[in-house]
Amino acid sequence: MTEYFNPTFAECRHAAEEMADRLAARRLSMSSVFGVPQGGLFPAMVVSERLGIPLTSEPEYGRTMIVDDLVDSGSTLIKYANQGFVVDACYRKPWSPATIAPKAIETDKWIAFPWERDHGAPTDAVVRILQHIGEDPSRDGLLDTPKRVIKAMTELTSGYKLDPADVLSTTFDVSHDEMIVVRGVPFSSLCEHHMLPFHGHATVAYIPAAGGRIVGLSKLARLVDMYARRLQVQERMTDQIAEAVDKYLSPLGVGVIVTASHTCMSMRGIQRSGEMVTAKMIGAMRDKAEARAELMVLHKE
Ligand SMILES: [Zn+2]
Repeated sequence: MTEYFNPTFAECRHAAEEMADRLAARRLSMSSVFGVPQGGLFPAMVVSERLGIPLTSEPEYGRTMIVDDLVDSGSTLIKYANQGFVVDACYRKPWSPATIAPKAIETDKWIAFPWERDHGAPTDAVVRILQHIGEDPSRDGLLDTPKRVIKAMTELTSGYKLDPADVLSTTFDVSHDEMIVVRGVPFSSLCEHHMLPFHGHATVAYIPAAGGRIVGLSKLARLVDMYARRLQVQERMTDQIAEAVDKYLSPLGVGVIVTASHTCMSMRGIQRSGEMVTAKMIGAMRDKAEARAELMVLHKE
């Protein structure tokens, strides 16, 4: 598991001061400092203050030191080093090039600097994940991926914006006291533990009360879809569907059976493939054995 390192501003200042002291030996020939955007800006300010040299936005060969918060693959700083610039960084990774910032503080943990935390657009988070898995977010095929991921996530979680009261608002007055079953309603959801898909189908059944309310079958499918389009665990999704039917239709009983396969199981080598079945029974569906038996027959037919 990845370990995280979230340095405070004070720790970052300390690391930048150490870097400044390393660079002090070059002070005489150097007359300005440049921070590689964005992360290098804070370290550059610390160096500027400590060595008494100005910041510059245009590095000048032979005069400007180039600093960054972190050297990882080193691709940015190598570019400057190859041009003959003096370069350094506050932190480095064990796999960073040996010639770049060799005295920087080494850590193999996943670093999130104070200026990177929680303030970015959601697409920045996707960029960070791509970097984290060793990908290059700037290569052609990945350029628009952050935008696409956020768009897809928004669609897949659009159920947060819907209310069961609206979905089940159009009801009919029909004197029907037999069980009503919608079977095999397909759905796709995201497990809240891994944000990986689980898909399957749901059976939703209820027994209307005398003079009770009945809802169009498509509304029950929409209800399933609404709860599926949120981050879920299958058990809770099953309960929520049943409880919504119970609350808004006030039937004698409700039964919901959900069967699904979870890609977080099948794809992640836990080797627990196969389907998971969850059920929620309320009222007569829970208390009356014959109602339950009837549901099982209708569910399996
Ligand atoms: Zn999961």
